[in-house]
Amino acid sequence: MEKVIAGRSDSYEPQEIKSFLEEGLRRIDLGLAGRRVLVKPNLLASKAADRAATTHPAFLRVLIELLMDHSCTVYLGDSPGYESLERVLRNGGYLDMLGALGVRVVPFTGEVAKKGSGISPYRDFVFGEDPDKYDAVINVPKLKTHGMMGMTLGVKNTFGFIRGFAKGRWHLRAGRDRDLFASIIVDIHRIVSPTVTILDGILGMCGDGPSNGDPVACGIVALARDAFALDAFIGGRLCPGLELPVTACAERHGLIPPYEVIDLGLPPAPAHFPMPRACAADWNLPRPLKRLLKNVLVKKPKVDQAVCRLCGVCVEVCPARAIRLGERCPVFDYRACIRCYCCQEMCPHGAIRT
Ligand code: SF4
Ligand code: SF4
Repeated sequence: MEKVIAGRSDSYEPQEIKSFLEEGLRRIDLGLAGRRVLVKPNLLASKAADRAATTHPAFLRVLIELLMDHSCTVYLGDSPGYESLERVLRNGGYLDMLGALGVRVVPFTGEVAKKGSGISPYRDFVFGEDPDKYDAVINVPKLKTHGMMGMTLGVKNTFGFIRGFAKGRWHLRAGRDRDLFASIIVDIHRIVSPTVTILDGILGMCGDGPSNGDPVACGIVALARDAFALDAFIGGRLCPGLELPVTACAERHGLIPPYEVIDLGLPPAPAHFPMPRACAADWNLPRPLKRLLKNVLVKKPKVDQAVCRLCGVCVEVCPARAIRLGERCPVFDYRACIRCYCCQEMCPHGAIRT
């Protein structure tokens, strides 16, 4: 029986986080002492920690210090959407902390061929870094909503092993098919196969995540060896009854193991956790009806002209080349648009809505 260990932390006060991590890691006994470990947070883009778009630096600091107390050699890496890792670390307030602790930073910019695990129709993947080079991969996602996938938790976080712009190519292959994209996410997660997933849900994000949604104090910290179990538990708690594509895919393939929740003082489940507008309309319709109506019901991205600064990032990241810069704002070609919401996710100014 897998264990999902979940507790409460109302702030990024180090002692509170440390108590949870020490107790949680003790209960699943990973045997990490003296190992080379790769920490994989969510470093989506240059965002201040209080925007809740990235794993909080204070959370990472406590985890890294704990690993170092156990004589681990710690590496930290990710592949942000369109910026360099160095820039995201600097702008997000991580760089000095990582330097002071002697953490080795690993940008996921290489080319490592990997074979799919048979969940998606694709057999070949190219990663920016090889998870198998390390004794352990510690997956440290942020609790956030996500326009296309509903939520991004532990399983989705490992999509970051795909290099920056190459992520768009996977979106393009999946097109508007959310279930197909979910199967790609699940495949990638199974290749990475993290040793443990540790969720930063102290300050989470609701609404139009994963980049420009609303920060919300959730007070949740959780960890598990198995991210499918962790995601099933957290997703079910925050948005009960909503079929999240990644968890639904895992369930169809029998990937969610039986699990018990060890409650180390979880806060009460929220009465209402606002989801992205992009996923509100059609999600709980029966599957055949959903397929039939998806072109009508799935929300289109739109720009808020008053907020747009014509920076061109959305044009650059759109995998379907469905955006061009007009004189006053970007112009969308909705016939080409695959509703992946990468433009909304990557807009540095939060100017794209659904
Ligand atoms: S990324 Fe955002 S701010 Fe930049 S051009 Fe597109 S909509 Fe405007
Ligand atoms: S316009 Fe936005 S939602 Fe549509 S394909 Fe491009 S990035 Fe995706």
